[in-house]
Amino acid sequence: MRILVTNDDGIRAEGLRRLVRVARSHGVVKVSAPDTERSACSHAMTMRDPLRVKPFDWPESDVEAYHVNGFPSDCVNAGLTVAWPDGCDLVLSGINNGPNLGFDATYSGTVGGAMEGTINGIRSIAVSMACFVDDAPLHYETGERWLLENLADLVALPAKPLTLLNVNIPAIAYEEIAGTKVASMGQRVYEDRMELRSDPWGRPYYWQGGVAVVSPDQPGTDVEAVSQGYVAVTPITLDWTDRDYAEVIRHELTATART
Ligand code: MN
Repeated sequence: MRILVTNDDGIRAEGLRRLVRVARSHGVVKVSAPDTERSACSHAMTMRDPLRVKPFDWPESDVEAYHVNGFPSDCVNAGLTVAWPDGCDLVLSGINNGPNLGFDATYSGTVGGAMEGTINGIRSIAVSMACFVDDAPLHYETGERWLLENLADLVALPAKPLTLLNVNIPAIAYEEIAGTKVASMGQRVYEDRMELRSDPWGRPYYWQGGVAVVSPDQPGTDVEAVSQGYVAVTPITLDWTDRDYAEVIRHELTATART
């Protein structure tokens, strides 16, 4: 299998090293990742600046690697141009150093990398370690081991065009993992999202982040699965059309619209 690995935490991130290690047991691995951290940039694309794609000396000598001064989607496109010009079979993005649950997936550069692979018609999987406390151990070893045991099954699933898999692995010891659940995208809402502060000269500024308020009553969601110790696998489609609602408004609009 020809595998392209990317992330949004940068080419030196531990999660990327771990993901490459897993991928190497499944085929030929090439890496194209950002030269610096590019978290929360979603599916952003560099359009007004030159992209520099530079070889990177990967610790395992059988891995061809490049770092790119761009976003994860840039890295995937650069990887498909420079590393795999004839295409590849799988794009892996991660392992991210934090959760990408619920609406957070829409901000995620990790998911953004998988989106670009999907748009290129390649089976793509985003993987994140779901910890919930700052500075808590990320337990990458749990993610690596879970992937070693389950990546082949994920890849063997029937592929669906325009659909990627978003995988969130609880940041706990491997023995504590309760199992795997296919889950829907939950709702992760933040409290105090914009915090007002003052700079040393007394001028106000805002720091964005906030505390996630996860309501536990979201049955069937990724948020619930991970909070119960399950690995959450969420299929995400790039066709954002809400077909049920389209039917509703089509009926309304055709009845009322003026021509
Ligand atoms: Mn990240």
